[in-house]
Amino acid sequence: MTCLSSTPADATTDGPAAVLPAAVSAPLPDRYLPGRGTGDLLITHYDLDLECKLASNRLAGRAVLTGRTLKDTSRLEFDLTGLQAGRVQVNGQRPRKTSQRNGKLVLSLKEPLPAETGLVLDIRYEGTPAPINGDWGEVGWEELTDGVLVAGQPDGASSWFPCNDHPSQKATFRISTTTDAGYRAVANGELVSHRKKASRETWVYEMNEPMATYLATLQIGRYVLRDLVPAGPAGAGGDAAVVQQVAAPAPLLTDAVVALSRQEDMMAVFVRSFGPYPFARYTVVVAEDELEIPLEAQSLSIIGRNHLDSGWEAQRLIAHELSHQWFGNSLTAASWQDIWLHEGFACYSEWIWSEASGSLPAAGRAKAAWQMLAALEQDITVGDPGPELMFDDRVYKRGALALHALRTELGDERFFRLLRRWCADYRHGSVSTSQFIGLADTEAGRPGFSAATLLEPWLFSAALPEFPGK
Ligand SMILES: [Zn+2]
Repeated sequence: MTCLSSTPADATTDGPAAVLPAAVSAPLPDRYLPGRGTGDLLITHYDLDLECKLASNRLAGRAVLTGRTLKDTSRLEFDLTGLQAGRVQVNGQRPRKTSQRNGKLVLSLKEPLPAETGLVLDIRYEGTPAPINGDWGEVGWEELTDGVLVAGQPDGASSWFPCNDHPSQKATFRISTTTDAGYRAVANGELVSHRKKASRETWVYEMNEPMATYLATLQIGRYVLRDLVPAGPAGAGGDAAVVQQVAAPAPLLTDAVVALSRQEDMMAVFVRSFGPYPFARYTVVVAEDELEIPLEAQSLSIIGRNHLDSGWEAQRLIAHELSHQWFGNSLTAASWQDIWLHEGFACYSEWIWSEASGSLPAAGRAKAAWQMLAALEQDITVGDPGPELMFDDRVYKRGALALHALRTELGDERFFRLLRRWCADYRHGSVSTSQFIGLADTEAGRPGFSAATLLEPWLFSAALPEFPGK
């Protein structure tokens, strides 16, 4: 185990049948990650066939990427870090030249392609995957004591597959993993096939809702899968019960089930507050190792053995990760500068759970956070914190306080209607702060009310505003 002590983890496609909201024009590459992603092309589906040898940490992959060009180009560029591309085909033809440098795979084509040309890229690659060391510690593919963990946020995706790594570039995925027998591979979405042959097992998952590359994940361990909440009729949230599962090493399974025993209630509270859960399933993977912080991925979360606790500190993290399925995964910020749309909302979800579960009301959690922030340096712009501070705790807490200020102003009924409308209108899409402000103005239903005026001091000024309410 190397990185997990320091990693702050946690567009529109034309892919699936889902009705997608209007595209958010995001600058590509992202200002916070200038070395990742390209606006020259759009990938709408990733089909990954992975062969993973655990003892030697060797990965051999075949990635078939489907998409289209967005401008005339004779050069196609992908993110791929630390792994060597082999045979590559673009629409059935070999490129004139394939080169790799600085985490980029560049394909020089024999003939230029006009904009809006359909693309099918067939890329073979292999190597010894390793985490990517950057401003946020080590992210990406990580060897565990006995297995593999992938923490993709914010730019770890290219450590295990070639991609257009940008949060607005959402695509559907099929992830097939062949690995040592006796291990379970867990990836995003539905397990559609599992077969065993000699000493190898193959696990195939499909994620049919659009997913940002950083939310793609693969977890491999000696995991036992257990239903927490089986599929069934209407649940407490008034929605069809979501399948909730835990994947944990057998010795940790009992503790995991106990630690996650309130998650069904959390789900009901969040469905009531935010609207329907965005995916068919939610799996919590419990790593055998300790993790400093949990990680979110689309349709699943990863926690460490040290998070198996019934106290508030562990329970708030369990609630936090669950809420990311709405805020971050279904609704993904098109630019990293809007990270508060993930973390501020997830932190406020902790407080919503605190209130609903009979612990401190959200206002009490907000007050404690405000007091903590008041004692700290006030030199952060939460609505554009810069890459070094994008996972700073002040983005989380002050982002949540911005929401609390809005709730205090609008009242519970309008505030939660706004959150439900936000999640419904932009479901499986890309979002920006200005869109949230626009919707808040509409939902406030009050002439003269300006969400921008109310939120500006919280999001775009350094000085901490007065505490909202009492
Ligand atoms: Zn988070």
